[in-house]
Amino acid sequence: MQLFDLSGRAAVVTGGNAGIGFAIAQALAQAGAAVAVAGRRASENAAAAAKLSATGARAVAIDADVADEDSCRALVAGAADELGRLDILINNAGTAIRKQPQDYTLTEWRRVIDVNLTGAFLCAQAAYPHLLRRGGGKIINIGSMLSLFGASYTVAYGASKGGIVAMTRSLACAWAKDNIQVNAILPGWIDTELTRAARQQVAGLNERVLNRTPAGRWGTPADFSGVALFLASAASDFVTGTTIAVDGGYSAMV
Ligand code: NDP
Repeated sequence: MQLFDLSGRAAVVTGGNAGIGFAIAQALAQAGAAVAVAGRRASENAAAAAKLSATGARAVAIDADVADEDSCRALVAGAADELGRLDILINNAGTAIRKQPQDYTLTEWRRVIDVNLTGAFLCAQAAYPHLLRRGGGKIINIGSMLSLFGASYTVAYGASKGGIVAMTRSLACAWAKDNIQVNAILPGWIDTELTRAARQQVAGLNERVLNRTPAGRWGTPADFSGVALFLASAASDFVTGTTIAVDGGYSAMV
């Protein structure tokens, strides 16, 4: 359908080599976009780009650490250069350190904020002139249920993901006049590498997630394909500054 067609568009996906980010990269590529996948691990980036290319998509791998300012700027410039343009930025790279607040070091706090929040800001800032050049574009930030709720062991993660929602609204207000839509997706509990570690570290987590999620299951990366495509395409041209939970009803239930 033309409304969701991304032919001729170019996208960069941070954390695009695995989990939710790779699923989003696949969805954009299937809709016709050229895609740059970025992460710290060169081998994983290359493997992800190769998988996308094998389906006939144009895909490149870019090694980047979004905790580093220069790396963010080089990532966006490199993607625009290699793909010839930039229309879509997916700020998906994320990390978590699970600890009680009193046990957090400043270095740990900064690491989580740098990766999850400051990196997203820097990539958005770097992407802005490229989107402007195209007469508009799309930025999709990945939040969390911790954007909405608290937990005893997620002080920095929660602060970063709450910040993602607030930042999304401000960027949306600032850049709406430039035809740039900025929205956030809030995942519920999704079966990826990130939560596999949590399931091992947090006793009873699996049962709690299943009981607390109305849909009665963990989400999968593929659950993000549709919503990412909607927010990355012309289908969402009057949608900006909002959040969409992809959580099987988790945030709807007391
Ligand atoms: P994964 O652990 O499966 O993937 C994380 C991705 O981020 C990897 O591609 C990783 O690549 C990349 N990444 C991590 N740190 C950096 C960094 N400093 N610079 C660049 N890339 C980085 O996680 P998910 O797919 O589960 O998570 C994706 C997003 O969704 C995150 O923002 C996460 O907070 C959010 N989310 C996930 C939930 C879940 O239940 N899974 C729930 C709520 C939110 P590499 O290691 O090569 O750098």
